[in-house]
Amino acid sequence: MENPESAEISVTGTYVEGVGDEVVVAFFTFLTIFCGIGSLVYKWLKLSNLTAIHPDSQENVNATRSQLGINSDGSTATSDISDGNERDDLLAGEGHRSFYSDQRCPICLQDARCSVETNCGHLFCGQCIITYWRYGNWLGAVQCPVCRQMVSLLMRNFQRNSDNEETREVESNINEYNRRFSGQPRPLLDYLWDLPALLRHLWREFFSVGGLVMMFRARIFLCFVAVLLYVLSPLDILPEAVLGVIGFIDDIFIFLLVLVYVTIIYRQIVAERVG
Ligand SMILES: [Zn+2]
Ligand SMILES: [Zn+2]
Repeated sequence: MENPESAEISVTGTYVEGVGDEVVVAFFTFLTIFCGIGSLVYKWLKLSNLTAIHPDSQENVNATRSQLGINSDGSTATSDISDGNERDDLLAGEGHRSFYSDQRCPICLQDARCSVETNCGHLFCGQCIITYWRYGNWLGAVQCPVCRQMVSLLMRNFQRNSDNEETREVESNINEYNRRFSGQPRPLLDYLWDLPALLRHLWREFFSVGGLVMMFRARIFLCFVAVLLYVLSPLDILPEAVLGVIGFIDDIFIFLLVLVYVTIIYRQIVAERVG
């Protein structure tokens, strides 16, 4: 801390004349943090609004479509569509419908069937994304057909139904995918981009019966209690009482850090699923 007396004497700052240095530093720190959070939110919104196939993925998607026997306008070449009743069962559950404005799978251009969500928050039919993976020339994890981010986790959006052949097959395929690719090294920023999709699934499973094991629920709960205590306690890296708004920066940072930590545990739980 600077001696308050010397701060009072030097009214003329060295950076901007007539404005104290600490005010200038505080202003730019605040601006940097504000821009950082702003660009994070902007990227999240931009990612979630993408629905069309990325031009660079078009070739792979075309190969997937021909593998699935689908024409580029979404009609099936073979008349292999199951009857309406069964189809409705496999479409994304009613409870999940509210979040996604568009339930259409960008690969087959139909309503997503046995829908699966990627860590980047994009929705596909289970069969479509699995075919995209199995029949593409991938050395490791696939790139999302929509946003080109590395797909390191596939999350189930449909109700588990052990009587249905298709849901069982999709589930065992996504479990295999997650076991193989969820632990791959990724850029640090990807952990931030993944937050919305992972937290959404985590939230849903947290409150569903038999969704997550008790130990995991307890760990998440403890994490958030710890953050709350940190935010409320006067013991702070940057105390609010002294620094005002800037004092909240460390709280926001800690909060983000805990969110990332929680999604990392969730990722491990999902990756260890077998079946
Ligand atoms: Zn599809
Ligand atoms: Zn994506």
